[in-house]
Amino acid sequence: MHAVLLQPHPGPTESGTELIEGAWLPFPLALARSGLTLRRRQVRTLQVNVGKLCNQACRHCHVEAGPGRKEQMAPETAARAVALLDLPGAEHLETVDITGGAPELNPSFRYLVEEARARGLRAIDRCNLTVLFQPGQEDTPQFLRDHQVEVVASLPCYSRENVDQQRGRGVFDLSIRALRLLNSLGYGKPDSGLALNLVYNPLGPFLPPPQEELQDDYRGRLLEDFDIEFNQLFTLTNMPIKRFLYDLRRKGRLEDYMTLLVNSFSPHTVEHLMCRELISISWDGQIYDCDFNQMLELPAGHESRTIWDIESLEEFTGKAIAVGDHCYGCTAGAGSSCGGQLRSSPLPAAQGER
Ligand code: SF4
Ligand code: SF4
Repeated sequence: MHAVLLQPHPGPTESGTELIEGAWLPFPLALARSGLTLRRRQVRTLQVNVGKLCNQACRHCHVEAGPGRKEQMAPETAARAVALLDLPGAEHLETVDITGGAPELNPSFRYLVEEARARGLRAIDRCNLTVLFQPGQEDTPQFLRDHQVEVVASLPCYSRENVDQQRGRGVFDLSIRALRLLNSLGYGKPDSGLALNLVYNPLGPFLPPPQEELQDDYRGRLLEDFDIEFNQLFTLTNMPIKRFLYDLRRKGRLEDYMTLLVNSFSPHTVEHLMCRELISISWDGQIYDCDFNQMLELPAGHESRTIWDIESLEEFTGKAIAVGDHCYGCTAGAGSSCGGQLRSSPLPAAQGER
């Protein structure tokens, strides 16, 4: 593995955007050097980010979500997002992946789920767990069960101290309560058809450990300590954007982290990047190549379009994907996506500590 960091990072860009630009090999050149291009295949996942409102305000949040955020998808925008499910090309869709913020807090959340399920699509709720105990959410677990929604839940560690450090005091205990509640409804139980998948991201500027090994650790500890079962663990790399980026800069660790990501660039992951088969819709109806690009306001294929502008999902097939140096986060080591690690072949030497 060759180091491609050329000189020290010059500091925040002057462009005013959140895009990082360093002295390392720009990501598009890393692709080109490996003889790779990044173009979308047919769209199989519609990811809908319904807004930035969240009952938590986690340290690493790439959405910068929190209780004070006002950006919320309006009902007419949700209705148009649903209309996309019936456009030409939608026959290739498999999944509607609903995220936020805490998506359950949006009044259109249940409508989006119901419409996706009515079309036979898999519906994913990216749930922070604690939201299930917010006022007005009392019947959300039953709603999720009744509609066979797949729950993807953040739990960055099986220790109270580490989770509370990253996600806020008291979050671990509430998360455990929520997982038990979901288990009691059948989530995470064999043959229930109710998928409960957990998400791990490193507490610091390191790459995640191998997914299968960590999954075994999680399974053992959660079962032994809390009698909790789940289906899969997804390991995610922390993306160098938004709150995590600011934290890196504040601590003077951005250069080290980018060196790790850049030196861990793994060309084999590119074939499996989630942006190849996904489009991401923002709360205001803009279209992006992924949720990370959405937060950077980097429109799909560098072309600003909204969900009202498109007439067919085939318009995205074969189109170039907008990339930046943050994309090293998805291609480092075993690769990373909203569905976890991208490949299971051996990791490069630059694997970081947990
Ligand atoms: S729970 Fe999720 S969306 Fe909410 S602040 Fe934490 S990371 Fe962000
Ligand atoms: S951040 Fe990841 S998913 Fe998004 S465009 Fe870059 S490589 Fe693709």
